[in-house]
Amino acid sequence: MAFAESHHLTNTQISDYVDGLLSPAEQQEVELHLHKCAICRAEVRSHRRLRRIIYHAHLRRPADTGPLHL
Ligand SMILES: [Zn+2]
Repeated sequence: MAFAESHHLTNTQISDYVDGLLSPAEQQEVELHLHKCAICRAEVRSHRRLRRIIYHAHLRRPADTGPLHL
């Protein structure tokens, strides 16, 4: 029985996967799909890149205000 064969991962599934918010069962299901689907793999990659940009943007802000408090 092949599940998730005909439809791709949803945006929510992909962003939850990137954020590590999925349950172990859901994560396994997503990873199974990613193994055979290059389209969704590309989606995950671009989500990860976006996350990193947001993460660095957050890091930069405290670094700018930090020295002012010292
Ligand atoms: Zn897919």
